Amino acid sequence: MNKIRNIVRPNILALNPYSSARDDYSKTEGIFLDANENPFGTLNRYPDPYQQELKKLLGSLKNSSTENIFIGNGSDEIIDLAFRIFCEPGKDKALTFSPTYGMYDVVAEINNVELTKIPLNDSFQIDIEKTLPELENCKLMIICSPNNPTGNLINKEDIELLLNRFKGMVLIDEAYIDFSISGSIIDLIEKYNNLMVSQTLSKAWGLAAARIGIAYSNSMVIDLFNKTKPPYNVSELNQKAACRAIIDQEKFELQKQKILLEKNKLINELNKLNIVQKIYPSDSNFLLVEFTDANKTYDKLINQQIITRNRSKLVQNCLRITIGKTEENEQLLTALKNIQ
Ligand code: PMP
Repeated sequence: MNKIRNIVRPNILALNPYSSARDDYSKTEGIFLDANENPFGTLNRYPDPYQQELKKLLGSLKNSSTENIFIGNGSDEIIDLAFRIFCEPGKDKALTFSPTYGMYDVVAEINNVELTKIPLNDSFQIDIEKTLPELENCKLMIICSPNNPTGNLINKEDIELLLNRFKGMVLIDEAYIDFSISGSIIDLIEKYNNLMVSQTLSKAWGLAAARIGIAYSNSMVIDLFNKTKPPYNVSELNQKAACRAIIDQEKFELQKQKILLEKNKLINELNKLNIVQKIYPSDSNFLLVEFTDANKTYDKLINQQIITRNRSKLVQNCLRITIGKTEENEQLLTALKNIQ
């Protein structure tokens, strides 16, 4: 097992975290004259900095202990924290697999960390032969599974092989995992102490506006996230919205099933169109679709106020299409039929 201490930036390891006024007194009853809050109003108090209520709900949902859970202001905050905790700016390197989620590049740039991008193979899987020689100099590896924009899951055997060989930290970004029939790999955090798994309430849970990202890892890594984050990184309103959503399991399942049903319908209909060359297999709520002329298709759709994501710079002639409501998908198909 790798020693996490050896991977963490020394200044983060030594960091004396900000101690919030409520760290010493966690009860809700009392006369609070400690945090320079306004005594009037309904949103006048700072929120729980460690989001205990939400963590308890998530813990029982995911069969995870609250000390293995971190809540971020979206999973984008989790990605940024991973760079800040483990990669020394201007010195350490990180690794990911292209094409993938564009924020890894941006966060690496912001943190002044060189990001090596190894191309995925023709099936959008990790090329292990090309990857192994790159492991030596890296502190952080990010694997997006299901991957954005390709939509596929990354083979679990390859992930485990890399977890075994890599001496740095591995972040598996599972933003779309709820749409996949294969389950999450969060169980593996007990087996690999260099594993972090991030998920989000922005996709299948329908809470993109509430900005709730979740990281699962061993308690030492979670403690590092807690001490590095801004003290009140998730607002009271957002914590409450997240708790409500998680309690309403029925709504979650119903919406997810509707989206998956619509996805199958859309695949069937898209396959009938001459301008569609290929639909890549998807474990997510979007499809990567190759068109005869993606730029032209994209522009024509935009003219009808149908906005897709043009990913043709990443995968030739491909648009990424999110599964919408029945009537939205029908309008998309009507528009595409007219482009033929
Ligand atoms: N990871 C991936 C792969 C994503 O596609 C996205 C959002 N598009 C995110 C993370 C960020 O999600 P959040 O809303 O939780 O910040």
